Amino acid sequence: MSDPHASSPYALDIAVALAAVREAGLLCRAVQAGIDPGELSKDDRSPVTVADFGSQALVCRALAEALPDDPIIGEEDADMLRQPANSAALSSVLDHVRAYRPEAEAETVCAWIDRGGSRESTPRFWTLDPIDGTKGFLRGEHYAVALALIVEGEPVVAAMACPNLGPDLASDRGAGTVFTAVRGEGTWAWPMIGSDDPRPVSVSDLDDPAGLRFCESVEAAHSSHGDAARIADRLGVTAPGVRVDSQVKYGVTSRGEADAYLRLPKNNVYREKIWDHAAGALVVTEAGGRVTDIHGRDLDFAKGSTLENNRGVIVTNGRLHERIIDVIRELGIGSGD
Ligand code: AMP
Ligand code: MG
Repeated sequence: MSDPHASSPYALDIAVALAAVREAGLLCRAVQAGIDPGELSKDDRSPVTVADFGSQALVCRALAEALPDDPIIGEEDADMLRQPANSAALSSVLDHVRAYRPEAEAETVCAWIDRGGSRESTPRFWTLDPIDGTKGFLRGEHYAVALALIVEGEPVVAAMACPNLGPDLASDRGAGTVFTAVRGEGTWAWPMIGSDDPRPVSVSDLDDPAGLRFCESVEAAHSSHGDAARIADRLGVTAPGVRVDSQVKYGVTSRGEADAYLRLPKNNVYREKIWDHAAGALVVTEAGGRVTDIHGRDLDFAKGSTLENNRGVIVTNGRLHERIIDVIRELGIGSGD
């Protein structure tokens, strides 16, 4: 199989995005490999800081080079790195970035990171999570580099590197998978490194709710595990939810390894960030699935850096979607929104 996006109207965008998240994923992998869990104190976030900034620098640099007019709403800016107290972190970021961009200097790296500092939606912009799932990254588990192009409020191009995801979730520390999706062109899974031999990805065809295999956040603060258990109970589901960090949950749902991903708000104050969902949402919908908020509303990516008009996120193989939204309503979840 050659490049499935070669004749796409977004051929340049997806090629740049795929190369950028692959490179950034390799940088993150190098930083994660250097973490010694015995050495890392509970509050030491320095490895994720280095990988987060290094990843954003590489992706923003790649986009700036190929598509200089495109704004980027990224999770990070370089203010913290510029503070003298953080000079050690900056020099570590620089070392890692130089493995790919030998010409990098401290100031250019900060400027690349700051290219991701847009906060307003425009008719065409990128959104980037340089490391989604920072807690998973620090635990040595799953995380993703997630990049999407939004046009007129909808994701149209997505590239998502999952450096620890193998052919199935059960394989420990896989070789890495990158998902790409372009609107109308399906979803594809590529190896992290090496051959350009992607395979098409599609959601499960389960339509019996009792057989539901769902996934949810590891972090109880990010999604209500209790509400997920109530939904499962009402559907007659016996299998417990699989807990996975980051947009890897969208990846495993897109390839039919899970039938749904439930992200259930803990309160009605938090607004989901666009960079936590834009790439994953396109990956799942192009694989045949469906993505809405808990009330069944489409996600609105035209409201700056948050999904201001939405609450939580429900991701399914499509066939089970209405049933799950009905159960959420029956149980009164989010009824105070
Ligand atoms: P996950 O790995 O799926 O648990 O999601 C990680 C993402 O959760 C991070 O990138 C944060 O942006 C996001 N996050 C932080 N606080 C909350 C919250 N209270 N509710 C939902 N998501 C959150
Ligand atoms: Mg994130």
